[in-house]
Formats: sequence, structure tokens, C-alpha cells
Amino acid sequence: MNLPNALKSIGLMATLIYSQTAIASSLEVQKISDSVYALVGEMAQRSPQNLGNNSTHGVVVLKDGVLLIDSGGSYQGAQAIEKAIGSITDKPVKWVVNTGGQDHRWLGNAYFKAKGAVIYAAESAVAYQKAHCEQKLSGMARLIGDDKFKGTQCVYADHTFKEKTTLTLEGETFELYHKGPAHTVGNAFVWMPSTQTAFVGDMVYNERALGIQYTKDVKGWIATFEAMATFNPKTIVPGHGHASDLATAKKDTYDYLVFLRDEVTRILNEGGGMIEAGKIDQSRFNYLKELDAIGAKNALWIFEKLEFE
Ligand SMILES: [Zn+2]
Repeated sequence: MNLPNALKSIGLMATLIYSQTAIASSLEVQKISDSVYALVGEMAQRSPQNLGNNSTHGVVVLKDGVLLIDSGGSYQGAQAIEKAIGSITDKPVKWVVNTGGQDHRWLGNAYFKAKGAVIYAAESAVAYQKAHCEQKLSGMARLIGDDKFKGTQCVYADHTFKEKTTLTLEGETFELYHKGPAHTVGNAFVWMPSTQTAFVGDMVYNERALGIQYTKDVKGWIATFEAMATFNPKTIVPGHGHASDLATAKKDTYDYLVFLRDEVTRILNEGGGMIEAGKIDQSRFNYLKELDAIGAKNALWIFEKLEFE
């Protein structure tokens, strides 16, 4: 055996494996059916490794093209999403829905738009994106670094809707709903009747603690979740964590919101303040990742809002 050559080929293999995982490493492909998939990103913060895709994205493979729900946290994050889709199908992304205003829902738009995809979002989501463009760009650049951020810019949906629109894509029907605020003001969800799947973006966090910093609107988020739940989806593709049934989404997101609303309301009724709100015992939800980092802050944000109602 020729050792130097063997070493060379091991080195080459390592380089190939490295370059593939470097692009798509942070996205796990979760198969739901032959046509429906979730791309599940890391639960931790945006980083140069995950390219801003610390989030879950929905994929529907149609006759000749792919519908992507949420375009990723950066231009290169969008490329990583395309790469992950490439492990499922050769068909191109022809349509993109942005389910909200948080960075990883839409900062990959520029990439898919340049490839000819048509983009949809709620009117209120686009208004929010336009108002926060600079802030979202600089925040993402800071977290993933200038090198990984290259190419990222604010590109907005081609088509918007107020409360509902229906798309028929290559014979498949999708209903897009904006029922109210959730994580951001313009949260929308995609309902796919034939598979009873709801792609809900940041309205649902599975396995990870949600953050209520943008709207602080716990009552609005609860009502929006309830409106989505009336569809009784068989599968929910969330904004964070793995796709699940409705019961899991309820346990990890809805029950947490109701718990915090009730606890903060109780403190207000008892004449308590921020100090008591910050000390709410949230240990029932300790199994949710990142709860340590954001749990007490959530209580304070909700307190801030409910105090003035
Ligand atoms: Zn998110």
C-alpha cells in the first residue's frame, strides 16, 4: 500500500465530508410524508456555523417544484436550505412563504428570488420587515460574522395578503392565514388540507422555550394559536424544534403562554411587581431548551404589557 497516496485520499475524503457538512450541517431533514418535510435547525443562538438558521423550515415537494416555508437567516443560510432540499429532491424551489418578521423567516429571500422563486407573506409581516430591515441585518451580521453574512439583504414578498389567500400550486391547494400576532405581529401559517399539515413558523416552538420580546402580546399569541388549533392539524411544522402533532405543540408553546399569562395576572391582582414576576417558578417547563436564558425575561415582558391593560 502506498501510504502517502492513502493519506492523501483520506485527506480528500475528509475535505469533501467537511465541505458538505459545513454547508448543511445545522439542518436535520425530518420526513413527514413523501411530499412533506421539515428542515430542523439548531436550538441555540445564530452562529457562523448555522448561518442564522437556528430555526425550522417547511418543505413541500410538488409535481415540478418545491414550496419552501421560510427562506432562512441569511443569503448563505438560504443556500444551506437549498442544499438540504437537494438531499430530498432535484426539483427547484419555485415558491416561498415568509410566515413572519423574525430574521430566519425571510432574510434568505434574496437568494431564492434571484433564482426565480415567487414569495408570499402577510401584509403586516412585510410592514414589520420594512420597518426593521436595518436592525435585522445588523443583528444577523453581528451573530454570524461578516464573511457568512455576505450577500444578505432585505428582499420582500412579491404577493401579500391581509387575512387569507389560497394558492393552487401544480394542483395542490394551500391556504395562507394571518389570524393575529404571535412571535411577531405578522405571523401567518400555511394550511395544506390534503395532508392536514399546518406550517406555523414562530407561532410554535417545540422542545425550546419561546421568546415573547417582539410583541409582548401573550393574549394575542394565545388567541392566534387557538385559531390555528381549530383546524385540528395532524402535523404541525413549527418555527423551532421538530415537526409534531397538535398535542406536543400545545404542551410546549400554548400551555407555557397560558401559564405565564395566569401567573403574571395573579401577581398583578395581588399588587405584586416586576420582582415577583421575575421570580415565577417556571420549573414545570424546565425540559424546554433555553428556558434558563429567556424564561424570566418572558415573564417581565408579559408583565410590562399586562400592567397597562
Ligand atoms: Zn424564530
